[in-house]
Amino acid sequence: MLMAYNELQQIFLPYQYSREELQRYRRQMKFYCPQCQQPVQLKIGQYNIPHFAHIANNSCEQLFAEGESKLHLQGKVQLFEWLRKLGHTVRLEPYLQKLSQRPDMLLIKEQKQIAIEFQCSTISHEKWLLRTSGYEKNSIQPLWLFQTPQKQSTQGIQKISISPIMQKMIMVTAQGLTYLVTYDANTSRFIYWTNLLHVHGYTFIGKVQELTINKQHFPFYEPKPITKEEFHLYWQLYKKQCKQFVYQRLLHSKNGVQDSFL
Ligand SMILES: [Zn+2]
Repeated sequence: MLMAYNELQQIFLPYQYSREELQRYRRQMKFYCPQCQQPVQLKIGQYNIPHFAHIANNSCEQLFAEGESKLHLQGKVQLFEWLRKLGHTVRLEPYLQKLSQRPDMLLIKEQKQIAIEFQCSTISHEKWLLRTSGYEKNSIQPLWLFQTPQKQSTQGIQKISISPIMQKMIMVTAQGLTYLVTYDANTSRFIYWTNLLHVHGYTFIGKVQELTINKQHFPFYEPKPITKEEFHLYWQLYKKQCKQFVYQRLLHSKNGVQDSFL
């Protein structure tokens, strides 16, 4: 976790300080978990972003996503700073007592609350649903932002594989364009997969675009329709994918002539 309270019940964000300052604070101050109120350790390693960790055998541990990856901590700091610079009222890792949930960020906009979850690891459908409904029951709008899968980063119109959980994050513009926004904490860029055309299974054809974090707004920018030339590319790719799909079914059909598709 990126925040804890000090003895004065003030929020302490270690990433804002230098390594030397943090070493001094670690000697002078005590830090407490905002959830279980137990003392927590300030970790100032060479590899990771400075953060807090519970002392072993604490029952609170499982409630927190401890052992968070470097990428997750890094992405949270980037997104939190970005929203703050845009002038939004945003809290980092606030503990919501009523829900016993702790979103990565909570944004307050025109009396509306938006819980932002930056998801780096895979999450089960059950856990996702539980957290989502927890927020919704308490009139908090959840916003799941996934770390961009590493194998997909180039730009242009291409074949994209979208996992079932990420398919749930697909949004639609007023003009009916489907798109999915992910965030790449490695490069500080938002990656857009737009104009999604479903082919089969997890396979889609889409246009990949990127936007550096300092050019992004909140709520996120919406994509534009594709051009006629781009549409032609879609069509070519779609035909190719359909052909491949049929050939694969013909050559590797487990059910042989019983295959209802054939
Ligand atoms: Zn705790």
